[in-house]
Amino acid sequence: MSSKQTPRVIIVGGGFGGLNAARSLANKPVRVTIVDRKNHHTFQPLLYQVATAGLSPAEIAAPIRNVFRGDTNVVSLMEEVVGFDLDQRTVKTTEQELSYDYLVVAAGATHAYFGHDEWEPYAPGLKTIEAALEIRRRVLLTFELAERQAIAGEASGPLNFVVVGGGPTGVELAGTLAEICRHVLAHEFRSIDPSMARIILLEGGPRVLPAYPEDLSRSAQEQLERLGVEVRTSALVTAVEPGAVRIGDTRLVAAVVLWAAGVAASPLGKMLGAPCDRAGRVLVEPDLSIPGHREVFVIGDLATLKDKQGRPLPGLAPVAIQEGKYVAKTILRDLDGTARKDFHYWDKGTLATIGRAAAVADFGKIHISGFLAWLSWLFIHIFFLIGFRNRLLVFIQWAWSYFTYDRGARLITGNTSLPGWVGRHPAATSQNGKEGDRSGKQGVAAD
Ligand SMILES: Cc1cc2nc3c(=O)[nH]c(=O)nc-3n(C[C@H](O)[C@H](O)[C@H](O)COP(=O)(O)OP(=O)(O)OC[C@H]3O[C@@H](n4cnc5c(N)ncnc54)[C@H](O)[C@@H]3O)c2cc1C
Repeated sequence: MSSKQTPRVIIVGGGFGGLNAARSLANKPVRVTIVDRKNHHTFQPLLYQVATAGLSPAEIAAPIRNVFRGDTNVVSLMEEVVGFDLDQRTVKTTEQELSYDYLVVAAGATHAYFGHDEWEPYAPGLKTIEAALEIRRRVLLTFELAERQAIAGEASGPLNFVVVGGGPTGVELAGTLAEICRHVLAHEFRSIDPSMARIILLEGGPRVLPAYPEDLSRSAQEQLERLGVEVRTSALVTAVEPGAVRIGDTRLVAAVVLWAAGVAASPLGKMLGAPCDRAGRVLVEPDLSIPGHREVFVIGDLATLKDKQGRPLPGLAPVAIQEGKYVAKTILRDLDGTARKDFHYWDKGTLATIGRAAAVADFGKIHISGFLAWLSWLFIHIFFLIGFRNRLLVFIQWAWSYFTYDRGARLITGNTSLPGWVGRHPAATSQNGKEGDRSGKQGVAAD
């Protein structure tokens, strides 16, 4: 041990994995330092609600320092980790070097653009609060710009919203956007008709929710279409440009493009020098440590481990939570001199939400769709939110918007430009300066 006193555990990342590891080590005979570049834990499954103006950021995030306010053996540090020296047992941050006896790396993953990082400015992904706010800004701004142009008697580009990737994030974004256009904004504009907007979900593979059983994928597509989403499968995006995406030779004009395809692990995984898979996830041992370093654990989205059937564990919150708790227990067993046990994931089922009263749930042999699946999704996600205040607020917000269709967090902040937005269309200059009618000065049909 580097310290003659209490062993020191450094946890990198205050997401689902890191937070649960630290919680399980709270008030135990170890000194814990949880290092995150943000000061808050983000409840990522509800990010889409921030992106679509249903919830405010503080309702789905919790200051890490506040989570551990009563646990005097846990220190929270807001710093970016940039490297490791496993021989010296140190973690390098942008500010300092921290020594450890045990290291838990839970830095998560982010979206990947298949080697085309230049697409990111035109197609933001949903991973952080900042990204969710940027998506919200673009979506709401589109309608404001279209209304402004219609009032000036000009035509804008088509109100197309394109979501790339038919996994759980793409499905929930597309479904909720459709709801906003059809129900929330429909009666608030005078010169454009938001309900005429097209929401197009592009999936490169043959079906949406590819990780789910086929009957649930089919059901998800039907529920999306009922909400008014155009689902295009086997539609592989080959380029993203300002205001458009390309699928092979087809150019699809889009006011907003959202990216929900591809995942890349945090670069910290490769910095550990351990073997990684193609997405940069660390191939961990059955006790979640890395080869040759029993004192270094990698958990959550940054790690990859196979289940009993030989399939890699999914990148889901319950995996990260269970791994975080397991690692804490393993450290305490080591300190007790008890032998380690292998990690086993307990799969309680997976759920994907699509929109209001629309979801799918896979509980092994039991598959549910629609209202019941949505209700399960809602209660499970509210239950796991960090902080009683957040749980209560989210529950009230949800109940309110369920009955009223209202979405209260509709603020546009930051700049007021939209990549690729066609302003003052020369061919559409006003003849008479009158306000456009609701039948739409905006073209909604054209690709
Ligand atoms: C939009 C979205 C929706 C999702 N929906 C669901 C869902 O419905 N159900 C479900 O089970 N799962 C869902 N997931 C997946 C789930 O959120 C992840 O599996 C889970 O967050 C993984 O936990 P983690 O601890 O590994 O990483 P994260 O929760 O991503 O936490 C990583 C932490 O590390 C910090 N960090 C990263 N790099 C550094 C660095 N260099 N220095 C310091 N700190 C760093 C980050 O700031 C972050 O706080 C969703 C994910 C997203 C993005």
